[in-house]
Amino acid sequence: MAKLIIIGGGFAGVNAAQALRKAPIDILLLDRTNHHVFQPLLYQVATAALSIGNITSPLREIFERQSNVTVLMENVTHIHRDKKLVETSEGKLFSYDYLIVAPGARHSYFGHAEWEQYALGLKTVVDASNIRERILMAFEIAERTKDPETAKRYLNFAIIGGGPTGVEMAGSIAEFAHRTLVKNFRHINPANSKIYLIEGEEQLLPSYPKHLADIALKDLEQLGVTVILKKHVTNVTKEGIYLGEELLNIPTIIWAAGNQASPLLKTLDTPLDKQGRAIVNPDLSIPSDPNVFVVGDAAACQDENGHMLPAIAPVAIQQARFVAKIIKNQIEPEKRQAFRYFDKGMIATIGRGRAVALLRKLQFSGFIAWLIWGFVHILYLISFKNRVLVMTQWAFWYFTENRPDRIINHPIK
Ligand SMILES: Cc1cc2nc3c(=O)[nH]c(=O)nc-3n(C[C@H](O)[C@H](O)[C@H](O)COP(=O)(O)OP(=O)(O)OC[C@H]3O[C@@H](n4cnc5c(N)ncnc54)[C@H](O)[C@@H]3O)c2cc1C
Repeated sequence: MAKLIIIGGGFAGVNAAQALRKAPIDILLLDRTNHHVFQPLLYQVATAALSIGNITSPLREIFERQSNVTVLMENVTHIHRDKKLVETSEGKLFSYDYLIVAPGARHSYFGHAEWEQYALGLKTVVDASNIRERILMAFEIAERTKDPETAKRYLNFAIIGGGPTGVEMAGSIAEFAHRTLVKNFRHINPANSKIYLIEGEEQLLPSYPKHLADIALKDLEQLGVTVILKKHVTNVTKEGIYLGEELLNIPTIIWAAGNQASPLLKTLDTPLDKQGRAIVNPDLSIPSDPNVFVVGDAAACQDENGHMLPAIAPVAIQQARFVAKIIKNQIEPEKRQAFRYFDKGMIATIGRGRAVALLRKLQFSGFIAWLIWGFVHILYLISFKNRVLVMTQWAFWYFTENRPDRIINHPIK
C-alpha cells in the first residue's frame, strides 16, 4: 500500500486525510499539537467569548473511525526529499511515497522579531490564551494601582493591522471593555478604555470593496474604536507604539499585520516566495518533485488571472481535496489538471450583530451579514460537538453580553 505523510492537522491536513477516507493509502498525519484549531474564531477565545475547547478538536477523535489514518504528535524539523524521509525534533525518521506539506504560517514582524514580546500575534490557542490573559491583566493592574496615570495607561489597547483579524479583535475588545466588564470594577471604569486600530493602507480591510470597508470603519467607530489609517508602525517597545516620531503610550498591543510561512519549507529545497511559501506547480506539487505537494497557507499559488490566492480556510480545504484526488487516483503528472479555486466570498465581523460580507457579486452588511457569518462559521467547525458548544455560547453571549472565559491562569507573584 502506498504511504502518504501529511504534515499539519490544520484545515488543509485534516481535509486531505478525510478526502482519502476510502482510498487504499496508508496515511500518517503528523502535527506538533494534538488538536485541530478553528483559527477564524481564535479572536473570540482571546476576548473571552469562547473557550479553547469550543474551537478545537483532538486529531485522534477526528480520525477515530478512519482506520487508514495514524495520528502522531511530532514536530517535523526536516524533509529529506532525496531519501523520501521526514525527520522530527527527536530525530525519528518516517518514509513516504507521497508527501503533503501543510504546516501553515506564523505571524511575521517584518524583520523585527523583538516586537513580538510587546505585540502578541494570534495563530494558536496558546497565543489566544496569552492575549486574553494580557487583556484581563491590564484591567487588574489599572484597578490595583493608586496612580491615576498608570490606571489610564492600562486602559489603552492597540491592534496593529486592519485586515479581518484586526477588525474582529478591535470590535471584540471594544465590546468586552465597554459593555461586558463595565460593572466588574470599583476603582476604574472599563467604559473609559481606548481601543486603537492601526492600518498602514488607506482603508480598513484592504482586500474588500471600499464601500464595505467604510461600513466596517463606521461600525467600529460606533463601538468606540479609534481607527488610524495611512500610518506605519516604525517601532514597538515597552513604552508603546511609535508611528514615526509619535508615541502611542499603550501597554497592551496585539499584532495582526503580517504572515510568514513555516520555516520547515526551507528544508524542502524548492523556490519560496517573499513570505517563505513554496511556489507550487498548477497541480500544487513542487517543481522538482511530482509526489510532494504543498497546500494551504504554506503554498504560494496563483489563480488563473495570476493573482495570489489568499491565506484563508476555503483555499486550504479546496487545495487539500484536489491533491487527495490526485493521490487517490494515482494520476500521472502530465495528466493532472490545474487547481482552480472556487471563490465563495469573504466575511468579516465587527462586533455582536454586525459584519460585512462579499459573496461573489453580492454585498451585505449589518445584521444579515452577521447571520451569514455565524452560519458559515458553524458549518465549517470540524465536529458536531464544537457546533453545539459554539451555538450555545453565542446565544448566551448575544442575549447577555457576558463572556464566560475570563480566567487569568497565572497568579501574581
Ligand atoms: C486569527 C485568524 C483568523 C482567521 N480568520 C479567517 C476567516 O475568518 N476566514 C478564513 O477563511 N480564514 C481565516 N483565517 C485563515 C485560516 O485559518 C488559514 O488560512 C487556515 O488555517 C490555513 O490552513 P492550513 O491547514 O494551511 O494551516 P493551519 O490551519 O495553520 O494548520 C497548520 C498545522 O500544522 C501544524 N504544524 C505546523 N508546523 C508543524 C511542524 N513543523 N510539524 C508538525 N506540525 C506542524 C500546526 O500545529 C497546525 O495544526 C484566519 C487565521 C487566523 C490566524
